[in-house]
Amino acid sequence: MPVALLDWYDRHRRILPWRALPGKTVDPYHTWISEIMLQQTTVGAVGPYFHKFITRWPTIEALAKAPLGRILEMWAGLGYYRRAHLLHACAKKLVHDHGGIFPHTESELRALPGFGPYTAAAVAAIAFDQKANVVDGNVERVVARLFAEKTPLPRVKEKLRALAATLLPDARFGDYAQALMDLGATICTPRKPKCSLCPLTRLCRAHALGEEEQLPVRLVSKAKPVRRAIAFFVMDNNERVLLRRRAAGGLLGGMMEIPTTKWDEQDLPSLAAAKKQAPVKANWKLVPGTVRHVFSHFTLELAVAGASVEAQPAGKQEKWVTFNRLRNEALPSVMRKIVHHAQGAL
Ligand code: SF4
Repeated sequence: MPVALLDWYDRHRRILPWRALPGKTVDPYHTWISEIMLQQTTVGAVGPYFHKFITRWPTIEALAKAPLGRILEMWAGLGYYRRAHLLHACAKKLVHDHGGIFPHTESELRALPGFGPYTAAAVAAIAFDQKANVVDGNVERVVARLFAEKTPLPRVKEKLRALAATLLPDARFGDYAQALMDLGATICTPRKPKCSLCPLTRLCRAHALGEEEQLPVRLVSKAKPVRRAIAFFVMDNNERVLLRRRAAGGLLGGMMEIPTTKWDEQDLPSLAAAKKQAPVKANWKLVPGTVRHVFSHFTLELAVAGASVEAQPAGKQEKWVTFNRLRNEALPSVMRKIVHHAQGAL
């Protein structure tokens, strides 16, 4: 199988901004940044962020010296902000403990901040051509189909990893890892896999059984809980919006936010009750409609209260930001949705 897959890869590999072209040397820094950004995020969404990042911080040293706040601003909109914190911590550790150079082996990489089993295997294989079993969701799907594995995910994860390990080639480990990723992304897609174009058709049990569209089997996941809150969008007479910095630990840690009441699995509080948690005294009015945002473990439903006030000093962890400059702030996507929802109504 590896030969057929590698031959296919040589002809059909995707050209991606973080990948070395054939015959060129891989830059481990680019591999690492892209692999962190690609966790839970699509190639299309990552492209512009990757470009901005490596333009602003072209080396590990530059990234290590950057203030965390600037990194979070650059990361705003990409989601899963803990990745940005760990990226920064990892750059600092690499400079401090490794002279700014990545270690090459999977086990050494695992010791770095933000390196789980997948990322360590991917960077070891792609950047250093180490023999590593690189298994993400795409690869799980391909392997489940190749072996017609019907035990549902996530229970079957370990078995799929073990099966993937049996397919590893004896050389070209980085190309092989990327070939499987490309196959999963472009041919062996979740719906309507393009088996007629696949280099592995003859080896694929699911295809032989006509079951490729039914695999992999997934346990139906439980509905996510819904948390609710009221967001306070307030603008002063200089067209400045009040933002607050979130606590460093936890969800969206260190990012800026439109102040809200506590996110709770209760019914929405009344505006009269919620005003006690408002950042300023004002004549708050509810904006019609709600904002919904889906996080990995819960859905957030927000009502938005809007108000206009006279210019006044910001409190601790707060700042007034000119409306037109909001795009420069480390505002996560959910906060940008609130701004968008509120602005039409004020
Ligand atoms: S033959 Fe079809 S189902 Fe099997 S690996 Fe190829 S694309 Fe996927």
